[in-house]
Amino acid sequence: FTTRATVAGLGDMGQALAAALLRNGFSTTVWNRTPGRAGSLTAAGAREATGLAEAFEASQVVILCVIDNSAVDELLAAAGDRLRGRTVVNLTNGTPRQARELGERVTALGAEYVDGGIMAVPPGIGTDQSFVLYSGSESAFKANRDLFEAFGGVQFVGEDTGLASLYDLALLSGMYGLHAGVMHAYALIGSEGISATDFSALLVPWLRAMSGFVTEAADRIDRDEFTKDVVSNLAMQAKAFPNLIEASKEQGVRPDLMEPVLRLFQEWVAKGHGDEDGVGVVRLLQERA
Ligand code: NDP
Repeated sequence: FTTRATVAGLGDMGQALAAALLRNGFSTTVWNRTPGRAGSLTAAGAREATGLAEAFEASQVVILCVIDNSAVDELLAAAGDRLRGRTVVNLTNGTPRQARELGERVTALGAEYVDGGIMAVPPGIGTDQSFVLYSGSESAFKANRDLFEAFGGVQFVGEDTGLASLYDLALLSGMYGLHAGVMHAYALIGSEGISATDFSALLVPWLRAMSGFVTEAADRIDRDEFTKDVVSNLAMQAKAFPNLIEASKEQGVRPDLMEPVLRLFQEWVAKGHGDEDGVGVVRLLQERA
């Protein structure tokens, strides 16, 4: 092999990954579909492959970071026999099913497969703000842990190839749910011209105080216990929540982000769970899956 690792895909994330490898002293080959994106990396010592075949052949570890898994499909289709004996590390965002299918495909090509979920934005790569989840071949993961440590924190979540993606998407769900609530709060407070920055002085400590929900909810879910020691029963919440929707409409703010929450609360109450803590709605979500 000419270099230790190849990074295929030099978008914002691929560039950050390759730069982190180079900073940590790993010889690196880079490749991008559209030429002209490797400049700062070659200046930092990367070797630029002139074609995909050369990129795949150059290294024992081939890291893929492209826009989505259908782009990964295209790259694998072009790989032919060139991946035999190598390890493919796919850090492209996708679903567990896609990861499992890609894992089977790569294994059939005679290579090992590790799937990854990057929990960072590109400037965070290689800092303590970053971690990456991995699943799939544990032996390939262990053999290349030194490379992965260049990207930040490292977490292997299991040999089921789909798990890194599952963890990644579950973490993102928590984040987007929080973001959605924050966006609605700013829209609502802004309807009276109140500055978002001024309001954030209340919102931040409020959310901090409410963050205990995360572990309390986990404990209830794991014990499957939603009725003991309830201090805010769901029937009460389902009565108060429409005020949030009505107030939004009265203030000229779209209630789109909040309405689905009310619908789920009402449905679970109608099914006889009004005496529960609201987190029991998790069971309703799972019923629908
Ligand atoms: P960019 O939009 O910056 O770059 C996309 C990359 O994908 C480019 O290198 C592009 O090549 C390549 N690409 C697109 N289609 C194909 C194709 N058919 N064949 C080959 N290459 C292709 O995206 P990012 O780099 O930010 O994201 C890459 C992955 O990382 C995504 O899956 C994203 O979800 C994930 N990710 C990104 C984060 C972020 O904050 N940026 C955070 C966590 C994960 P070309 O230059 O030729 O168009």
